[in-house]
Amino acid sequence: MSATGLLVNVAATRVGTRALGPGLRSVLWVQGCPFTCPGCMSPQWIPDRRTRLVTPRELASELLGDARVTGLTLSGGEPMAQADALAEMVAHARAARDLSVLCFTGYRLERLRADPPNPGVARLLACVDTLVDGLYVAALDDGRGLRGSRNQRVHRLNPRAEEAGTDFEEGPRSVEIALEGPTALLVGVPPPGLLTAFDTAVDTVRALTGGNPGGRGPGPDGRQPRCDQGRKRECDGTDGQR
Ligand code: SF4
Repeated sequence: MSATGLLVNVAATRVGTRALGPGLRSVLWVQGCPFTCPGCMSPQWIPDRRTRLVTPRELASELLGDARVTGLTLSGGEPMAQADALAEMVAHARAARDLSVLCFTGYRLERLRADPPNPGVARLLACVDTLVDGLYVAALDDGRGLRGSRNQRVHRLNPRAEEAGTDFEEGPRSVEIALEGPTALLVGVPPPGLLTAFDTAVDTVRALTGGNPGGRGPGPDGRQPRCDQGRKRECDGTDGQR
């Protein structure tokens, strides 16, 4: 428990990626989102349920696990739903290293300022350099940029030199697929067709291994190993994202 008693409900993390913002970044996906956008790539991270509860200080340390990381990307789930804890995490991280912060939110910036959903929002907004706002609309996904659909807006709240050359609206998309044991994590905003290819690959692994990628047996908890942006999938068919 942190000194303030705050905890972050973590869906997933990725330390060191070039797929979600300028430079080498660490990504935090939080668990829980008040929205239900059709076509959301991380539906398993929408339910407001406990996953991994971590103190802001511990989470900052985890995200700074690679000394080359120069930025944090906050996604989910809905980061603004855990604004106070995330602001505290960013403060801890920045106490150790100068970092840019990119944040995705389903809320519009005007709403966050005029009628914040919780008291921590202003504190988190003060930490964010670039905010991508608005709900994902599948019909407006033009396959370009670091926003999921073209209704979403990019707000440079605190422009940094590192981000000056990044075209958040129109730049090419890239993704990374991180394999950690039997889990496959898709990191990034997928270009057209990529999500289907990813799902097909995971389904193929499941079919070929009987939900047992790598030929390993069930873990100590009796569960089969798993294969799985944020989109995280489980090769044993147990998947439940932004
Ligand atoms: S796209 Fe983002 S805002 Fe919409 S349901 Fe998914 S996580 Fe929530």
